[in-house]
Amino acid sequence: MNKIKIIGEPVLREKSELITDIDEEIAKLAQDMGVIMQESNGIGLAAPQIGLSKRMFVTYAPNDKLRVFINPDIIMTSPETSAYEEGCLSIPGVYADVTRSSAVAIQAFNEKGKLFKLDADGILARVILHEYDHLQGKMFVDYLSEKKQQRILKKFRKK
Ligand SMILES: [Zn+2]
Repeated sequence: MNKIKIIGEPVLREKSELITDIDEEIAKLAQDMGVIMQESNGIGLAAPQIGLSKRMFVTYAPNDKLRVFINPDIIMTSPETSAYEEGCLSIPGVYADVTRSSAVAIQAFNEKGKLFKLDADGILARVILHEYDHLQGKMFVDYLSEKKQQRILKKFRKK
């Protein structure tokens, strides 16, 4: 049972829609996403990755807790950047260094509808930026050279 959408699925390239009501259904979805993420050994999962074009993602960075971000807004990204090897549950088996801001400030609602702000750095900042990209229809391979992207896309087209 694999619910995770793989690169090539149009939903992964859509700009996700705002969630208007943070109700029980959304809370349940957040819980389900947490389970799917952990079953897949992921440290982040965005709603488009399970076929839902909604502005919501979950993270579970090492040495951190499970976090839910609904209708997130990136408030600040640091000018300092760092490169780190990334992967994505929607692009299985592909890993590559991506340069991103080292720190981020984000505002979002949790599954209870409570607004919160979070300053993150390290892996959590990276996961947040990676997952936020999914809500914009962006994937980490977009940061790679054209040549590398072609090679990756070819691999997934063959299947
Ligand atoms: Zn991803």
